[in-house]
Amino acid sequence: MSTGTRTGIGWDSHRLTPGRPLILGGVTLVHPDGLGLDGHSDADVLTHAVIDALLGAAGLGDIGEHFPDTDEAFRGADSLALLRESVARASIAGWQPVYADTTVVMERPKLKDHRGAMRAQLAAALGLDGGDVNVKASTGEGIGFVGREEGVAALATVTVTRVV
Ligand code: MG
Repeated sequence: MSTGTRTGIGWDSHRLTPGRPLILGGVTLVHPDGLGLDGHSDADVLTHAVIDALLGAAGLGDIGEHFPDTDEAFRGADSLALLRESVARASIAGWQPVYADTTVVMERPKLKDHRGAMRAQLAAALGLDGGDVNVKASTGEGIGFVGREEGVAALATVTVTRVV
């Protein structure tokens, strides 16, 4: 059994579409063209990346194994609730989050005014202080699926420490 700390990585992307909310890290943003993220759950791409990073660090596979998008139970699911459940499953496996670093890759809107709220929401779900979750913003510089505003991507790392 390994001891000490481990780090997992997470990546996710979701399509931008009209008629859907734009939820990132549990915070609802307003896109200037009224776009939101398409998906089976609430499509919170940032929280999904954090979940995958946490599951990776705990050696527990990926989000699709734990919360299949073919399962009606997860239609419209609150991704922060899925993150809290992932923290519980990681804890059973003997791992507790200690730090998360994240990047949202999106053209618009700017994240600046929402970053603090996103950090607080993610930290609460991870059982951490806000200072132990970092949220960075990047753009697609007008190229690729992010640059064309066809979608939003997010990356995350989560570091865990052994608790049992
Ligand atoms: Mg996803």
